[in-house]
Amino acid sequence: MDKNRMRALTREFLEVMGEDPKREGLLDTPRRVADMYEELTEGYAMNPKELLSREWNEVTGMVIAKEIDFFSLCEHHLLPFYGKVHIGYIPSRAVVGLSKLARLVDCFSKRLQLQERMTKQIADALNENLHPYGVAVVVQARHLCMQMRGVKSAADIVTSELRGQFEKSETRNEFFDMLRKPV
Ligand code: ZN
Repeated sequence: MDKNRMRALTREFLEVMGEDPKREGLLDTPRRVADMYEELTEGYAMNPKELLSREWNEVTGMVIAKEIDFFSLCEHHLLPFYGKVHIGYIPSRAVVGLSKLARLVDCFSKRLQLQERMTKQIADALNENLHPYGVAVVVQARHLCMQMRGVKSAADIVTSELRGQFEKSETRNEFFDMLRKPV
């Protein structure tokens, strides 16, 4: 990111908003905003293939990672949407550690995003790199662009992507039952 340009644009943004970028409280804001957006979009520089370098294991059956926190930016309004990602997969041979799943979620959440696309990208990355028998990704999120404006809806939006064995209702039910159980 060209941070000098981002700082200049933030100063201009403040002016257009009717603010005075030279007043005390705003003097350092352009620098902070540029630093922040660099961090909030660092997912662009992450490579899912590298993140999912495999660990070989004799795990059979379903692996579930519940409640991975994420924060993203809605590409329509540049406001945050945030919540939890739940991942389930049935390994053929390759499994990955929980921290790598959390990094994978960072990779697709720390950028300008849509919840549906993020859900699909996480499922695709797992499918393409681990070749599991099945993948399920559920994303539960609140969107500040819905909560702060318009209808002010506070409802959670839930999206899911189910692949392979999770397309069968018994596997899917087992996964959703596990999600409902307290940790
Ligand atoms: Zn939005």
